Amino acid sequence: MAKVLMFHRVLPEKQITYPNAYSTFGTLISQEFFENVLSCLSDNGFQFVTVSELTRRTSTDKLVALTFDDGYLDNYEFALPSLLKFNGTATFFPVVNPCKDNTALPLDIYYQCIDEMNLSETERTEYITGTTKRNFYWAEPENQMKMLNSLFKTLPQKNKVSYMSAEQLKELSDKGFEIGSHGMTHSLLIADYMNKVKALNELQKSKQWLEAITGKPVTAYCFPAGRYNAEMIELAKQVGYTSTCLVVHNKNEKEVLPSYDRIFVKPNSLDELKTTLGIE
Ligand SMILES: [Zn+2]
Repeated sequence: MAKVLMFHRVLPEKQITYPNAYSTFGTLISQEFFENVLSCLSDNGFQFVTVSELTRRTSTDKLVALTFDDGYLDNYEFALPSLLKFNGTATFFPVVNPCKDNTALPLDIYYQCIDEMNLSETERTEYITGTTKRNFYWAEPENQMKMLNSLFKTLPQKNKVSYMSAEQLKELSDKGFEIGSHGMTHSLLIADYMNKVKALNELQKSKQWLEAITGKPVTAYCFPAGRYNAEMIELAKQVGYTSTCLVVHNKNEKEVLPSYDRIFVKPNSLDELKTTLGIE
């Protein structure tokens, strides 16, 4: 069985500041660790493929698809050179609005506020993995902005993170990396506020924008936070996607497209990853 790995942000160890909500949650790894992962995969005979290539292969043994969610600028700055160094390919799933408008997502502002506050470990854990986070995460993006104002006294003047620009996404695509879609706004497609019109907007508009940028078909869709149901996979198929990425399969949902579970690669978890991949 092919393995699909999930990454988000990558920074050189010396550029990672602490406390760091991304590291705590697992969505920021060091470039050094990323290279250890690449080297381990390559030493153990894994072949790197894109998600779309995976759907075309009949034998998927020893294939590994690396995926990067959200479209952070550090992917271009640090994951890209490491991938080139190890002859690795990957699929990038940018969220369109922050790339198009050079903004950050509400979640980035949320994390930045937490890191800038003087919090106890218990408070930090609640903000990063507790009910506060859950309520925030499942809210509609406009409401997330309102929630930020009520949760924190002042919001940062400047965002600490950036997203890849249209030009950078095009460059990745030109270099042979796959650009898939992660929607327009990172809305969770099965959230309470969702309806068919909004879901279609996320699936279709993002696909069109990315296709206009790259000049290539965008055929892989990655569900924000891996949240999906059969209806949403059906909708993805209707607008022209040929595969989807999840986090964990929901066994009750019938899938009309190849849909992949992914291994969430957390910071410095090489031993755990080796075990998951069956590497001695
Ligand atoms: Zn995401």
